[in-house]
This record gives sequence, C-alpha cells and structure tokens, in this order.
Amino acid sequence: MINTTFVLKFSKESLLEKLVHDILTLKEAQNACILAHNYQPGDIQDIADFVGDSLELSNIVTHLPNPTIVFCGVSFMAETAKILSPEKTILLPEPTALCDLAESIHKEDLQQLKKQYPHASVVCYVNSSIETKALSDYCCTSANALKIVESIPADTIIFIPDQGLGSWIQEKSHKEIILYPGSCPIHFLLDPHEISRTWEHYPKAALITHPEANKAVRDMSTYVGGTGGMIQYAGETSFDTYLVATDIGMIHRLSKEYPTKRFILAAEKIECKDMKSISLQKIHYSLLHNYSPIEVDPSVAIAAKRAIQNMMDIQQK
Ligand code: SF4
Repeated sequence: MINTTFVLKFSKESLLEKLVHDILTLKEAQNACILAHNYQPGDIQDIADFVGDSLELSNIVTHLPNPTIVFCGVSFMAETAKILSPEKTILLPEPTALCDLAESIHKEDLQQLKKQYPHASVVCYVNSSIETKALSDYCCTSANALKIVESIPADTIIFIPDQGLGSWIQEKSHKEIILYPGSCPIHFLLDPHEISRTWEHYPKAALITHPEANKAVRDMSTYVGGTGGMIQYAGETSFDTYLVATDIGMIHRLSKEYPTKRFILAAEKIECKDMKSISLQKIHYSLLHNYSPIEVDPSVAIAAKRAIQNMMDIQQK
C-alpha cells in the first residue's frame, strides 16, 4: 500500500527544492543579488545573499557589482536602496508590501509641523517614505537616532514619524523633541502583561525589545535596541534564553546566529504581515519577469539622499 503522507511530503520537498534551484539559476543568469530584511520568513533569509536591517542592506547595495537587486522587505526599504543606488534595478517582489509606520505620515503633515516650529530641525526615522525624507534635514536609524539628535546644532527637533523611538530618545536627550503620533502597530501595541506572563515561564531569560515598542514594554526590558543591536547584545551576553519583543523573523535570524542559545517570542503573533507577504514564489516571479522595479522621482530622490547623507556624515564621525 502506498504511504500517501510520505508521497505528499516527498513531493512537497521536491517542489520546494526545485523552486529554490530555479531562483538561484535565474539569479545567476541575471547577475542579481537577493537581500532579505531580518523580519523576512526563514526560508527567504536562507536563500538570501545578505540578511540585515534596512539601512545596512541599502548600504550593501551601494557596494555590490550586481545590476539587479531583489529586495525582500517593505517598500520604503527598496526605495531607500534605489535612492542610494539609482543606477541599479531594485526589484520589490511584492509591490503592496508597505510599512504602516512609514504610511502614518504624509508630506502635508510634516509641512504643517515645520510651519509650527520654524527653528526646529527635522530628524526622520528611516522607516518613512521618500517624500517625507526629502522634507527632512537628517535621517536616522534606531541604532543612531540619539547620536544624530545630539550631534546636530538645533535645540528643538521634530522627530518623525515614530512616537515609540521618539519618546525613547526624548527620555535620553536634553533637547526639546517634538513628537509625531505615528507608530508601528506591531511594536507599539505590545502588551506588557502578556510579556510578563511569558517571562514567568523563563524567569532567567533576558527580554530584548525594539525601541518602537511602547514605554511600559521598554521599561521592563533587559535591553532595548534595533535588530542589529539585538544580534550584538545576544552575542555579547551569556543568557541561555532571550525573550524577543520584535518580529518573529528575528527568531530565525538569532537562532541561526547563536545555535546554542534559545530565542522565544515574547508575546504571541508579533508578526509584520507586510514583511511576510513576500514568498519564494514571488521572488521567482520577480526575477523571471523583472517584477516590480522601484521607480523614484529623481528630484525628490536628490533631496531624500541629502537627509540620508547628513546622517551618514554624523555616523562616520
Ligand atoms: S514591523 Fe512595523 S515598522 Fe517594521 S515594517 Fe512592519 S509595520 Fe513597519
């Protein structure tokens, strides 16, 4: 008698192997490179040439010889890569993969704030649209936000769009920080009570949290930092177990990086749906049909690049 479960499993694995093989063949034929954000599903991280945070990946793009980049992330990330490498074809395999945080502010909102605080400088989290970056003085990441805020001459800073990261910076800086009420629904709505209940099961674990989280969750954490900071922290500390208060994709990334340590999601369903809207099938389609290349308005891109460059100049000091 034929074992149908075995046959189904076997054929599923064969199909997956063939799909991965086809992606890698297409990638080589087109001299393309696949980049995946830390929040991407594990199977995508596993076939990517580079896995990292958004700015890290955009910086990598500038040094790559490949003319085509498949950027597995959300639209503002692919857009940032295009701003920094306009000569390259940047493919976003799922064009509807947006970031709710980046979408939470429009250029009219920022224009209004600038009118209200004419002497303030605008610091814009990299999780923002090209139009928002173009109206800003400086970009920042979660890792360098405090350094950027502290380094610029202005005493008043309009910090957009994330109130989670912005209020975290506000706690650490002596400057006047004007916040915008944007937020990442994945991080800002984390429930501290739910996290406490998880922690009761692992009392010796460290809780590592993204600064986009709300204050109650940040305050109870052992460490607060962006995805790059979390990777570094887990490498430098000796906890057996880490409760991870950021997207589930980081569990895959951290577990691969440190296989002897245990990484557990701090609450159920911490998952960015847009980040998970990319699949191996969509990457294959994207490479096969050159789908969907990022286009940016060159004049807006020049202004947005200036804000990114201003950040990089401070970062390198
Ligand atoms: S996790 Fe939040 S900030 Fe990150 S891409 Fe998703 S919505 Fe945007």
